Amino acid sequence: MIKSDIVIVGGGPAGLMAAGKLGQAGIPVLLLEKMEKTGKKLRITGKGRCNVSNSRPQREFINAFGTQGKFLYSAFSRFFRDELLNFFKHELHIELTEERGGRIFPSSQNAHEIADKLTDWAVGHHVNILYHHSCDSLIVHGDKIQAVSCRTPSGLQQYETSAVLIATGGASYPATGSTGDGYKLALQAGHTIIPPAPALVPLVAEQGDRYGLQGLSIKNALVSVYTEGKKTASMFGEFLFTHFGLSGPVVLTLSREIVLSLRHQKRISLEIDFKPALDEQTLDKRLIREFTTHGNKKLKNVFRFLMPEALGPVCLSQTGVSGDIPCNVVRVEERKKILHWMKHFTVKISGYRSLDEAIVTQGGVYLKEIEPATLRSKYIPNLYFAGEVLDLAADTGGYNLQAAFSTGWCAAESMIQQIHQAQDQ
Ligand SMILES: Cc1cc2nc3c(=O)[nH]c(=O)nc-3n(C[C@H](O)[C@H](O)[C@H](O)COP(=O)(O)OP(=O)(O)OC[C@H]3O[C@@H](n4cnc5c(N)ncnc54)[C@H](O)[C@@H]3O)c2cc1C
Repeated sequence: MIKSDIVIVGGGPAGLMAAGKLGQAGIPVLLLEKMEKTGKKLRITGKGRCNVSNSRPQREFINAFGTQGKFLYSAFSRFFRDELLNFFKHELHIELTEERGGRIFPSSQNAHEIADKLTDWAVGHHVNILYHHSCDSLIVHGDKIQAVSCRTPSGLQQYETSAVLIATGGASYPATGSTGDGYKLALQAGHTIIPPAPALVPLVAEQGDRYGLQGLSIKNALVSVYTEGKKTASMFGEFLFTHFGLSGPVVLTLSREIVLSLRHQKRISLEIDFKPALDEQTLDKRLIREFTTHGNKKLKNVFRFLMPEALGPVCLSQTGVSGDIPCNVVRVEERKKILHWMKHFTVKISGYRSLDEAIVTQGGVYLKEIEPATLRSKYIPNLYFAGEVLDLAADTGGYNLQAAFSTGWCAAESMIQQIHQAQDQ
């Protein structure tokens, strides 16, 4: 058995932050990473640009995590966005830039810069990183973890430890190393796992891509969710038609609740308003104007003045209005049908894509069993959790990474205090 002081399982943003902070405090740290490098997921965040945080007020951050968000008040009160930005600037020497929607990125627009400098910082503070080390069990004696067991290239290995931080991430994008191992370790320690499910995930439409709209991106739409026929959410923004259904920012954000509803066998449909800036009366005037201006042209050739051209045939097919009639003979009820279609295009949702395509995992280690102020297990006093392994999942916008960094930092601070207290006794 190899002796070490603190063991951190997982070299993502949460684990690296915690490891570096412990190392900085002079505490020997062993970081076990199952992949060949650290931060494989971090390196692909924000389409390779890494949206590390957001300038929105703390209340909005908390809301972005839904009902679970309140768990983060304590961690955010100690290490939030300003502390993170200071850390990037003064410790990692990384410049940051704010973009639309308050999203904060490295000025280099390069996620590798964050992952590499974070790793170098941790190593610079004497963190011992062992790659290709996949932790597969905790060795618990009484109410304490004594060691962790790992699969390594040279066989099984055990590491004795005074405390363990599990920072193994969720179960989405498993090729990055986040395969849900932390849930098994937590179960072993007696914790409850809220069943993991994809969040921020594309949705599957009942009709697939029957109308051949794959690749069509709609910039400004209002998308409303109907659950069992009742409107339950709506959001304005961009979405994308795909070969199986819908994706894009608005759909990903709305997907979190939709996935849970579908899991409860609820009927879901999305209603899309292609002209959210125009009320029905104004849109009707607009249609009259276009149909008058292009009176002799065939209706099917005039849609391009009203909406993306590809939508025209879908509108005609679903409303039953002929595209071959000239615009000046379109009857009032036909115009009303077109108008209604443009404001209420409906897509029935039959499912969602798998965890392989989900940006984050909802579900994970049950928050009620973790102390929010210390990130420590309420069952095992030398066991801590940080990052996405916890039952925390937020919308896109930099919230998830901020939570990983904040909980990693706070877990390390608590471990340092625990070590100092033990030394004082
Ligand atoms: C495509 C994509 C884009 C994203 N973009 C953004 C964004 O721009 N902004 C944002 O805020 N969030 C984004 N996210 C979400 C964000 O990446 C995660 O929430 C965040 O990485 C979670 O950090 P973590 O440290 O908890 O876990 P992870 O980053 O998942 O890291 C966990 C680490 O633990 C290791 N590990 C797992 N099991 C074991 C084991 N048994 N033994 C040893 N090591 C193990 C893994 O290999 C991995 O290195 C994105 C996610 C994806 C998939």
